[in-house]
Amino acid sequence: MNLILLGPPGAGKGTQAARLKERHGLAHLSTGDMLRAAVAAGTEVGKKAKAIMEAGGLVSDDIMIAMIAERIDQPDCREGFILDGFPRTTAQAEALDKLLAEKGTPIGKVIEFGVDDDMMVERISGRFTCASCGAGYNDVTKPTRKPGVCDECGGTEFTRRKDDNPETVRARLVAYHEQTAPLLPYYQAQGKLVRVDGMADIDLVTKEIEEALAAGTGR
Ligand code: AMP
Repeated sequence: MNLILLGPPGAGKGTQAARLKERHGLAHLSTGDMLRAAVAAGTEVGKKAKAIMEAGGLVSDDIMIAMIAERIDQPDCREGFILDGFPRTTAQAEALDKLLAEKGTPIGKVIEFGVDDDMMVERISGRFTCASCGAGYNDVTKPTRKPGVCDECGGTEFTRRKDDNPETVRARLVAYHEQTAPLLPYYQAQGKLVRVDGMADIDLVTKEIEEALAAGTGR
């Protein structure tokens, strides 16, 4: 089973992807994570992407399509994968369909996370991650149980993404509405689109997704 999680930054795609990965044994492919790793490693792709990411823009389709083409060929994708943050443009969606048609493993479902923009800015600006184990938290919606201590590993060092500031978040939301939202009718026409309420409680969103997967058909 191959899935796409589609929604603006902060909609909860990463959180739900982690749960889907665990429950269904799928690989979690986050192009944002791949790019951040490339920036940290100082690769050619990382050098090209750094400023674009800091401004909240989109990295070129050529780079992103090549990156995902290589990634879905890895052995851990054989049983299926969850795309989180890709595709983000019509060109990426069309290239993905072509790649998967060649492999005979099409996308099964596209889960759209419906959210409110103003709430997203607030939610995203509160995000932070444990530097030791990568567990994700939020000042408002998901604080650590004990202040300053990771629930999962007891770590006390946390990081915040450089692009999770209100100004960059607004630019990322504009990029989403202008370049990514047109993918909704694209996947709806393929009968693969399922909408969940990204503003709802995390467990409720998981339940909605599981029900949609069990039901088999998109809207
Ligand atoms: P994310 O972690 O998905 O919010 O991605 C962080 C940033 O990486 C985005 O704001 C873009 O600058 C870049 N990025 C990630 N995925 C893509 C993509 N599929 N196409 C273009 N840019 C991307």
